[in-house]
Amino acid sequence: MNISILAVGTELLMGKTVNTNATYLSEQINALGHNVLYHLTVGDNPVRLKDTLNYLLEHSDMVVTTGGLGPTQDDLTKEVICETLDLKMEKHDLAYNMLIERFKQFNVEMTSNNIKQAYLPIACIPMMNQKGTAPGFIAEKDGKYIAVLPGPPYEMKHMYENSLRPFLEELSDSVIMSEYIHLFGIGESSAESVIDDLITDQSDPTIAMYASVGQVSIRVTSKANDFDTCYERIQNTTAEIVSRLEPYVIGFGETSLLDETIKLLHDNYMTVALAESCTGGMLASELIQFPGASQYFDLGLVTYSNESKMNLLKVEPDILETYGAVSAETCEAMLHGLRHLSFSDVLVSVTGIAGPTGGTPDKPVGLVYIGIMLGDSIQVKKFNFTGDRLTIRKRSMLNAINMIREALKP
Ligand code: ATP
Repeated sequence: MNISILAVGTELLMGKTVNTNATYLSEQINALGHNVLYHLTVGDNPVRLKDTLNYLLEHSDMVVTTGGLGPTQDDLTKEVICETLDLKMEKHDLAYNMLIERFKQFNVEMTSNNIKQAYLPIACIPMMNQKGTAPGFIAEKDGKYIAVLPGPPYEMKHMYENSLRPFLEELSDSVIMSEYIHLFGIGESSAESVIDDLITDQSDPTIAMYASVGQVSIRVTSKANDFDTCYERIQNTTAEIVSRLEPYVIGFGETSLLDETIKLLHDNYMTVALAESCTGGMLASELIQFPGASQYFDLGLVTYSNESKMNLLKVEPDILETYGAVSAETCEAMLHGLRHLSFSDVLVSVTGIAGPTGGTPDKPVGLVYIGIMLGDSIQVKKFNFTGDRLTIRKRSMLNAINMIREALKP
């Protein structure tokens, strides 16, 4: 079935609220094997709401709306839908009893405004709201469906899961399944050239690539009549992709470079300490973003100036003078200095030129050294990153995390 999602609410157009309902519903609906054709957003304006509804109903088998179901004047979704589809409303006993129940539970007096929420189209399927007051409904007109959900994501998800999903499952004759393969250390075009033939010949599963700074993800999606067929097709294609890109694969599904790295630190009961220069604390900030970070994060120093490298990390002035602050020698000396300040299992140092100024022909902008010490073993890697200041800092931070991951992976 072809389904469109219509979010109603002026706050969405004002940029005050991110339309997370559409993302959630799309993911859910696609997983059931239905196609999502459009995401549209319209403010609390009856004329534009009616126009948008008419457009979507013309191009889809079902429109799912979220928002505008409350008891106030600007909550018009239900009324406009009934007018657009020429549906009469009546008081639904089920919805009315649910409202009485809900208000008793909240210990709030019910007003006549609220009673309007018990009025739903005649012959619709009411959808109970377990988490709020506004009931939703599914109505049908001339072979087209309209499903109406509340705006607050918590209420909407609950209603979807309990009422709309079972309805959509009945109407679906196929399932869609996806697997994600996450890569690090290879660019999007290089990765694509390795699996070019698979992308060109694709019918099912389909293969799509997504790239962000330093990271590439490949989505493998299959649509079939049953889960087993989907699963087998995805497994085969995923195995083929992995065999070609193995050195760059960092994980599958809902994971990230950071997740994988923190998991390894946790699994090995290890802690980490950092001496950062050009990343300026970005690495520390990334590593501590999850609660419980104190279990694996010990110390983060930002030794940006030569003085702080000498004073805090005891980097010899000779090293700085002979090789410069951005050099493999300084990067290694920073690790030795850090060793005196922390008993952590993993030590990391970063020094580089983030630009846009400060580069020379010998040491251009983007030159970055990252060092890692694990036990007695020390590794210092040289990178030549491209991009603006923020991108170079971000690439440095991600590569430092990847070096931790590589050092710890079994
Ligand atoms: P209520 O009874 O709370 O008024 P409602 O169905 O009328 O319910 P809205 O008034 O449209 O819902 O939205 C209530 C709140 O829900 C919004 O202020 C916003 O925070 C959130 N919300 C609405 N639509 C969305 C959406 N598409 N994505 C994410 N959040 C949303």
